[in-house]
Amino acid sequence: MLIGNGWDLHKHSALKPMYLAGLEFDEEGFEGYSDGDIILHALCDALLGSVGKKDLGHYFPSKQPTEKGIRSTVMLEKVLEIIDYDKLKVRNVDITVISQRISISEKRENLEESISKLLNIEDSQVNIKGKTADFLGLIGDKKASASLVTILLENA
Ligand SMILES: [Zn+2]
Repeated sequence: MLIGNGWDLHKHSALKPMYLAGLEFDEEGFEGYSDGDIILHALCDALLGSVGKKDLGHYFPSKQPTEKGIRSTVMLEKVLEIIDYDKLKVRNVDITVISQRISISEKRENLEESISKLLNIEDSQVNIKGKTADFLGLIGDKKASASLVTILLENA
């Protein structure tokens, strides 16, 4: 069995639509050199961590201008190659989004379906939870949102 965890946080920006779990929403998005998808970035780090392959920043340094504006779905595809994903089998993915701005309950089904498609697993293997920060700090002030991902895999 292999377990990995990842987390990510981005500042919100009114200049970009929101990308979450690879989907685009007509809501205030995130700053970032990529599309700022906090769920996919945390998922990429969890996947890399599960097989001991460093972190997302190692493969996509934010100082590299060619990567600017890159979609996180493209980053995830590269990560799946790096970790030899076809030799692995996901048991489950557990995701927490910490935000005072994003309502997870109304998006849950779409987000879970998107993650299951991206990882080629069943919807039932993905769980997404929404939490607030009780109006405290950066997240509580709606300036930023964060995501935590834990993934359990085994060798196929
Ligand atoms: Zn990120």
